[in-house]
Amino acid sequence: MINLLYSVYLDDQYRIRLPRELCRQMGLEPGRELSLRSSSKGVFLSNPNPYCAICGTRQGLRPFGRRFLCTACIRWIQETSLKGKKAPSSQKG
Ligand SMILES: [Zn+2]
Repeated sequence: MINLLYSVYLDDQYRIRLPRELCRQMGLEPGRELSLRSSSKGVFLSNPNPYCAICGTRQGLRPFGRRFLCTACIRWIQETSLKGKKAPSSQKG
C-alpha cells in the first residue's frame, strides 16, 4: 500500500470520517473493529488482525456479519445448535 496522508476532521461528537478510498484499500466495512493507539508521536489507527469471535483463533476465518468465525466454530454452530455441546477451546495466537 502506498503511504498517503489524509486530512480528517472531528465532528461535534468527536467522530472522524475515514476516506472511502482508504476504507476500500484496507478492506474496512462499517462496524469493523479498529485499533487506535496514542503515543508521543500522535494517534495511529490500525486494522487489527481479525480473530474468531467465539474462540479467538486467527486461522481459517470466514467473515460473519461484521466479525469473523473460524471454520471449527462454524461447524460447531451447525452441528450443535440443537444439542448444547461445549464450544471449541480457545486457540488465540
Ligand atoms: Zn472459532
